[in-house]
Amino acid sequence: MMKKGFVYLVGAGPGRADLITVRGAEVLKTADCVIYDKLANPALLHYARRDAEIVHVPKRIGKGSCTQDEINHVLVEKALGGKTVVRLKGGDPCMFGRVAEELAVLIEAGVGFEIVPGVTAAVAASSYTGILMTDREYSSQVTFITGREAAGKDQSNIDWSVLAKFAGTIVFYMGIGTLESIAQRLIENGKPADTPVAIIANATLPAQRVLRSILERVSDECKERKIEPPALVVIGEAANSDARFDWFMKKPLFGKHIVMTRDAIGNAAFAEKIVTRGGNPISFPTIRIESLTNSNEFLQALTKFHRYDWIVFTSGNGVAIFFEALKDLGKDARVFGSAKVAAIGSKTAAKLASFGVTADFVPDVFTGRELGRQLIRSTNVHGKKILLLRSQIASNELVDVLVGGGADVDNVALYTATASKDDPSYLVEAIRKGTIDYVTFASPSSVDEFFERISADLVKASKVKVTSIGPVTSERLEQFGIVVHVTASEHTLDGLLDAIEEYGVI
Ligand code: SAH
Repeated sequence: MMKKGFVYLVGAGPGRADLITVRGAEVLKTADCVIYDKLANPALLHYARRDAEIVHVPKRIGKGSCTQDEINHVLVEKALGGKTVVRLKGGDPCMFGRVAEELAVLIEAGVGFEIVPGVTAAVAASSYTGILMTDREYSSQVTFITGREAAGKDQSNIDWSVLAKFAGTIVFYMGIGTLESIAQRLIENGKPADTPVAIIANATLPAQRVLRSILERVSDECKERKIEPPALVVIGEAANSDARFDWFMKKPLFGKHIVMTRDAIGNAAFAEKIVTRGGNPISFPTIRIESLTNSNEFLQALTKFHRYDWIVFTSGNGVAIFFEALKDLGKDARVFGSAKVAAIGSKTAAKLASFGVTADFVPDVFTGRELGRQLIRSTNVHGKKILLLRSQIASNELVDVLVGGGADVDNVALYTATASKDDPSYLVEAIRKGTIDYVTFASPSSVDEFFERISADLVKASKVKVTSIGPVTSERLEQFGIVVHVTASEHTLDGLLDAIEEYGVI
């Protein structure tokens, strides 16, 4: 008999990917198949296995969307096919999630299941705005209500007269479409027209917005300000919470749209840093990293590794690709033997450390030229054999400096960067519309590839601020006639974000 699958109904949390629970992330890693809908952050798919099957079910209100029946069908079909299925549901799976219907079909089909709770939108929205739903002074009770009920006058389950008298915090989910009638009915039933109301949209995400208003005006103001779902409507004294409790929207990069121009994997790692600082990362991969570790040149270098005095890495990418190749060849860090290891900067050194190798030398300014100069100053390189493991398109500066110091240098390419072929029109449009605040560059090659596809004149004529990780990259930008607004003084991604934050304060 074929093994039956298993279904995990997992709360994806309110929006920000890392607000999923540890248990949720854990089962996501084991899934053969992940089914997710619009409210679950696509970044969560990074937790899933590379070979997991991903099924997207865009459940929306109205026509043209996937019906609940279809979702139920997919769930059962995958599970009966013997798969471990994770059904990611926004917020908490059981909060306004139609979970009973999904469970019913699973039970009927004899499929085992587990429910993993998630942080529901209202709870997260409260933390991310400081709009406190309970307070010993003014609110000892909270009620969560679905706003969908407010429209159909006859079959409403909501007793509006009781609700109007409710002395705590009222939170409507799905209440934007019916906001006018929600406010009207509460006022008709005796709720004071000046009761404070807060609308919290896109809670926990860089696009989070808050509107503070009062019951009789909130619907109009919501339309004027064009606030769109997903959003919560918080009614009661809570909506007047101390504005100083809001920590998230005060972050220095909050609401800033920041374009990343590394390769896709590099962008994903960079995006996490931007999100942590409250910014909105926009990925525009300019280059694709391709490993060259199958080349004869690399394999030859590897056979004489023990003869080198120094092995030099100049990027985290390089380190990762190197160790992947070692693993494929059935080798490990012992290939270094007695050779010393140098890293161009703190991130490259950290990457080495993650493979158990401590860099013997890291310069205090993270450029190729400084790496060469400082290495020469700190040790005698004369007649020493030095192997550089780098990108095929790395500049010659480091080689020149070391050769100038009398070293015998082998320069071997670990990887190359080729142009990425994504369609640039969405970025062109956004730059034109003025919705991009910063474009970031972390290497000269990404500068070249960026301006291959985006016109320098467009950038010059826009309000975009151009930012760079260091002098070599800035110089390349200047060659395109671009004004560089920010050059990081510490040449790492964190250093770049620090510099952008400082620039933003001026
Ligand atoms: N199970 C979900 C709720 C699903 S109903 C949970 O526990 O959060 C969908 C509604 O949730 C939306 O209409 C909106 O009211 C609310 N919602 C979900 N994510 C939100 C977010 N990031 N910000 C504000 N409201 C959100």
